[in-house]
Amino acid sequence: MKLEGRVAIVTGGGRGIGRSIALTLAEEGADLVVVGRNPESISETAEEIRSIGRRSLFIKTDVSIASDVNSMVEKCIGEFGKVDILINNAGITRDSLLVRMKEEDWDLVLRINLTGTFNCMKAVTKYMMKQRRGRIVNITSIVGVTGNAGQANYASSKAGIIGLTKSIAKELASRGINVNAIAPGFIDTDMTISIPEKTREELLRQIPMGRLGISKDIASCINFLVSDDSDYITGQVIHVNGGMLM
Ligand code: NDP
Repeated sequence: MKLEGRVAIVTGGGRGIGRSIALTLAEEGADLVVVGRNPESISETAEEIRSIGRRSLFIKTDVSIASDVNSMVEKCIGEFGKVDILINNAGITRDSLLVRMKEEDWDLVLRINLTGTFNCMKAVTKYMMKQRRGRIVNITSIVGVTGNAGQANYASSKAGIIGLTKSIAKELASRGINVNAIAPGFIDTDMTISIPEKTREELLRQIPMGRLGISKDIASCINFLVSDDSDYITGQVIHVNGGMLM
């Protein structure tokens, strides 16, 4: 087990990609802090992690609120004494074309996806700097690179995450902290479930591998990026999309 003795925080760990990431890290030996707004779903993930023999804490947190995030990280330190890994996975969409996009939907998506990632990185950094070791992986998106009609807010937040990742990777490289991003393509989760069948078929035609991704496809890549196998990799955006963007 590559992550024995490591402590990881996963935001949005109650369902979808975040849940798969949390369980995969636990299977590799990590102890977990599972973060989200819905106590029921994060407690279920935490319970499942305990059932495979790892320690686990669930902490109700809205990543867009800095004081919530700071108190979550302090609880993690109180319980486990350290934090080795941060996965910024929490994210939302509020899609509409620009002319109809409400200012509140613009603000909310930026606040949760981008400011939430900033809040969590800021809160763990002082502890990781003291340890002179840390791994941060931020979940961006293919549309943060390509743009997407109807997703100006979401694509901007995800493009922002790429700039944030590279900047902080440069700031922290000399401190033993690696900061990378993963850009998923289209992954079968609650977020994509409402895509109409016709659009889904069109999307499938754009994916050379001929299938949507599953959460585990992202979790497996995370596993590599937080292990010692990726020691010399920082500031990168790894695309996991079945060949959709080359
Ligand atoms: P889901 O909608 O299934 O899950 C989103 C998660 O984010 C939930 O666990 C939710 O928990 C959490 N979350 C949302 N807002 C907050 C908040 N303010 N504070 C804390 N947690 C929050 O989405 P996916 O699993 O599909 O997506 C996970 C990540 O992957 C997102 O960042 C998404 O943008 C990205 N992504 C997904 C793709 C896909 O095709 N599915 C493609 C590219 C990127 P709760 O409701 O409990 O707060």
